[in-house]
Amino acid sequence: MCDKPAEGVEHVPPRCLFPEKKDLPEGVDLRKQLITVPACDEHNTSKSQDDEYLLYLLVINLPANETAKNQFLTKAMRSIERNPSLINKIMANPHPVVAVDKETGQAHHTVAVKIDDARLDSALDHIARALYFHHFKAQWLGNVRTQPDFLLSSLDPEKGQERNKLGEHMVTAADQLFADKEFHGANPDVFKYQILEGTENVHMLMRLHFYNGCRVSVFFGANG
Ligand SMILES: [Zn+2]
Repeated sequence: MCDKPAEGVEHVPPRCLFPEKKDLPEGVDLRKQLITVPACDEHNTSKSQDDEYLLYLLVINLPANETAKNQFLTKAMRSIERNPSLINKIMANPHPVVAVDKETGQAHHTVAVKIDDARLDSALDHIARALYFHHFKAQWLGNVRTQPDFLLSSLDPEKGQERNKLGEHMVTAADQLFADKEFHGANPDVFKYQILEGTENVHMLMRLHFYNGCRVSVFFGANG
């Protein structure tokens, strides 16, 4: 992120996404070989609220797996009990929706909430740059664009459908692009990532998988 001297390490993605031993059945370890990168104090502390935001967003997301649901009922609930202000902010103005699982046909009566784009973008940007450093042992100081595939663009009944359709096409395209790429990460139920060499327009692509169902496409050095 910067050229200041490192004063500690930060976990990538944030450690709070990985369940603690006490929240798992005996003998299950989902904190194996967590990825860390050197970090300056300023960048490490400035992102702790972003980390909490990311945790809440992922564990309440419908496509997330059972590990996420368990993390919601344990870790997230404990921090909500301590301080509910952030989750209250996220859940303000819930919009009732019916989400249909295309594979099973199952309908979920649930709510949609508005995302703080800037905050999510900041959290994902941090993770992308840190993973780049971890994977390639080099800083990436160029631009990074992150595209969360697990969010809807809009609930607007008119304009929204078209934008959401476009989003779906992009997710399908990304699924195909990365279909045969190797996964990295020692706790794939929580987090894993893939790398794809770039083309002339993009230096490199990365795909992040949180709790299996929450995917993010990352473009390093995309033009425009
Ligand atoms: Zn820094």
